[in-house]
Amino acid sequence: MIKSCGVDILGMKFYSTNNKNLRVSLREAVLTGLAPDNGLFMPVSVPPLPRKLLKDLPKLTFTEMSFEIAKILFQKDVPASRLKKMIDRALTFDAPLVPLTHDINVLELFHGPTLAFKDFAARFMAQLMFYFAEKMNKELTVLVATSGDTGSAVAHSFFKIPGIKVIVLYPSKCVSQLQEKQLTTFGHNITALEIQGSFDDCQRLVKSAFLDKDINHHLNLVSANSINIARLFPQSFYYFYAHSRLKNKNNPIVFSVPSGNFGNLTAGLLAKKMGLPIFKFIASTNINDTVPRYLKTGIFVPRPTKATISNAMDVSRPSNFARILDLYNHRLPKIRQDIIGYRFNDKTTKKAIKEVYKKYNYTLDPHGAVAYLGLKRFQQSAPNQPINGIFLETAHPAKFKETVQASIKHKIKIPFRLKKYTKKHKHSVLLPNSFMALKNFLCN
Ligand SMILES: *Cc1c(COP(=O)(O)O)cnc(C)c1O
Repeated sequence: MIKSCGVDILGMKFYSTNNKNLRVSLREAVLTGLAPDNGLFMPVSVPPLPRKLLKDLPKLTFTEMSFEIAKILFQKDVPASRLKKMIDRALTFDAPLVPLTHDINVLELFHGPTLAFKDFAARFMAQLMFYFAEKMNKELTVLVATSGDTGSAVAHSFFKIPGIKVIVLYPSKCVSQLQEKQLTTFGHNITALEIQGSFDDCQRLVKSAFLDKDINHHLNLVSANSINIARLFPQSFYYFYAHSRLKNKNNPIVFSVPSGNFGNLTAGLLAKKMGLPIFKFIASTNINDTVPRYLKTGIFVPRPTKATISNAMDVSRPSNFARILDLYNHRLPKIRQDIIGYRFNDKTTKKAIKEVYKKYNYTLDPHGAVAYLGLKRFQQSAPNQPINGIFLETAHPAKFKETVQASIKHKIKIPFRLKKYTKKHKHSVLLPNSFMALKNFLCN
C-alpha cells in the first residue's frame, strides 16, 4: 500500500467511512482503493459547480463539459493540460438523452467500447492510475471483481497500458456468453480468473486480498471496483449532461438508476452535492433488493444473492452503501427524502421490455427495463407531481440478446464492436471459491 503522506495535501482530501480523521490525497485514494481500515474513501468536501458554469453547460459537448467539471475537482492534483488529455482519451463517446414521452427520457450510457456504462468510469480511472503510477515509477496490479460488465470495461480500459497488470475475478457460469468472451479474450496484461462462486464471493475474495499483508508485500495492488473513488467522479459527469440536455427544466428532475453496487447512484448523489438540482433518485433493483428493503424497514439485511436476467445487479451487499450512509450521516429520514427504492422481478422486467418496444419502438436491455419500471412506479405513486423523468439505460440490449429477443419477438442487431469478440478464444484460470487459492495464484 502507498504510505500516507501526512496532512499537507494540496489537492482533494479524502477520509475513510470508518474514520473521519484520516486524510489521504487523491493519489493515495485512487491507488489503494480501499482505506487501510477497510472503509471507503470519501471526499472531505466537494466543490460546488459555479452557477455560471451550470448555466453554460447546455452549450458544451459531453467531453468539454466533463473537462470543465474535472478541472474544478482535480485542478490541484493534475495539471489542466494533462487532465484534458485524460478526458479526451477516456470519454470518446456520447451519452445521448432520448425522449420516450414528454416526461420520460432515456439516458443512453452504452455507447462506449464495451457497450455498458462502466466504460465511463473505467476509462477515466485507467488514465488517472496511469498518470499517478508513471509519476511514482511504480508497477501496479489492478484487481477487480465483476458481475459481468465491470471486468470487460476495466480490461478494455487498461489493455496494453504500460506498467499495469489487470486480474479480473468473475463468477463461473453467472455471466452471459458474450460477457465472458469480453472478459477472457484479451491476453497481454489482462488475466481472467474464473471463480467457482457468486459475484459476492468474488467481491469478498478481492476485499480479503487487499487486507492481506503477504500479497500487498508482493504486489502494488489497486482496486478497480466501484469501491475506488476514481470510478465515481466520471459517472457524475453524465448526470450534469442529462440535465443540460433537457428542453424544459421547470419540472423537478427524477433519475431512476438501475442499481447493484450503487456506484452509479452514489455518483448521482455527488452531482447533487456539487449543485445539480435533482429532486429524487429512484433506486431500482431486481429481486436482490437489500436497499429497497432497507429504505422501507430501516434495517440492512442482505440475503443470499439470486441470479436474475439483469445479472450486473445481482448484488446483495452493495459496496457503496457505506458511502450513501456517510453522505447522509446515517440519518434514515434524510436518505428517504432523496432516495426511493423499488424492486422488480424478472417476469415484470421482461414485460416492460415488451411494452416499451411495442409502445415506443425502443429496445431496452434488462437493466434499463428495471430503471424504466422504477420511474413508472414513482409516477403512479405521485400522479399529481409533474416531473422530468430520466432513467439510465446502462447496457446495450445486444449484450443480453437472448432475453431481449425472447421478449420483443424480434431479432436485434449486434454492433460490430461486440460481434468481434465472439470469434476470439476464451482464456481463463479456473479457481475454487477460496482465499488461499487466490493468494497462491497472486504470490506465485
Ligand atoms: C454494473 C451495472 C449496473 C449496476 O450499477 P452499480 O453502479 O453497481 O449500481 C447496472 N446495469 C449494468 C448494465 C451494469 O453493468
